Amino acid sequence: MNIAIIGSGVAGLACARRLNDAGLTPIIFDKGRGIGGRVATRRAEDGLQFDHGAQMIQHRTAAFQEVLAQAQSDGFVAEWHDDQSPSAYVGTPGMTGFAKYLGQGLDLHQATEITALTREAGGWSLHADTPLGLFDRVVCTAPAPQTAILTAGALTQSLDAVTYDPGLTLMVALTRALDAPVTQINPTDAFAWIARDSAKPGRPMQTCWVVQASADWSAAHLEMSKDEIAALMLALFLDLYNLHASEVAYATAHRWRYALVTKPLGQSFVTSLDGGLYACGDWCPGPRIEHAWQSGTATADDILRSV
Ligand SMILES: Cc1cc2nc3c(=O)[nH]c(=O)nc-3n(C[C@H](O)[C@H](O)[C@H](O)COP(=O)(O)OP(=O)(O)OC[C@H]3O[C@@H](n4cnc5c(N)ncnc54)[C@H](O)[C@@H]3O)c2cc1C
Repeated sequence: MNIAIIGSGVAGLACARRLNDAGLTPIIFDKGRGIGGRVATRRAEDGLQFDHGAQMIQHRTAAFQEVLAQAQSDGFVAEWHDDQSPSAYVGTPGMTGFAKYLGQGLDLHQATEITALTREAGGWSLHADTPLGLFDRVVCTAPAPQTAILTAGALTQSLDAVTYDPGLTLMVALTRALDAPVTQINPTDAFAWIARDSAKPGRPMQTCWVVQASADWSAAHLEMSKDEIAALMLALFLDLYNLHASEVAYATAHRWRYALVTKPLGQSFVTSLDGGLYACGDWCPGPRIEHAWQSGTATADDILRSV
């Protein structure tokens, strides 16, 4: 059976992993350069690194806890305890470690944006710059608004009810250590989260901080250029800690147009009428990495039932 998966975020990787473990060989296409989607690690000059997407991995189910335990024993994630958060895991040496764990041995094609998806006589056809072939099953894990465009009414349900908050992230490296808590939640109206990224296990000895703007602040500044966003967030960060601009070694910003699901669809996945096309991702069951994993895994189980 030919299976294509659009997206190498946690949902796409979890789906592919389960299919691969059952003896199938899905092909995964992602428009990004690296795997992981919103489980992301930015690497910059002088060996600097920042987890600019998801910050930590929590588990509520025994099944996902088992996955994390295996990933930990294989050296891809580590437990992380700080003053504010309950026990959680982080990827090592960056958050993408967890994606790399799921992605081992899979047929991954990065930097390949799927631009069209059409129903043909023999299956579903995928197109990037060039046609990619015909598939018996296609799984789309792009965020709901992008999935709705790609699948163009072929799914049995509308995805219009799914909503997201956007998120703006500042990554900043300082020239000196800062006497501040390792993490802070909602320290100001503008900021929802500040973390000393270098305090997570397995990171290089650096003074890297990740700052996530609040949903309201992000929405209000979403369409600014990344340089403008970085400048505004940096000024607020420096002000908060009484720092001077000369103490900043590096700063940049990232825009997450679809950061956190605020209203999920309320089910594990969606299909087309003919059953050949699936859509899944965190936006189906909930806002977290564990939801993305559950959604991708449930999709794979459904495909396996039809084989
Ligand atoms: C700033 C931030 C902080 C977060 N913090 C946490 C946290 O601490 N804990 C937690 O559990 N969750 C957190 N989350 C949420 C978590 O990251 C997501 O729930 C999870 O990663 C979603 O995985 P996914 O596979 O469903 O989607 P994604 O990770 O978005 O993956 C979708 C993939 O599809 C690809 N794609 C899209 N369109 C196309 C196309 N046309 N062609 C090819 N590829 C395409 C994208 O490039 C992407 O790689 C956070 C998210 C953000 C943004």
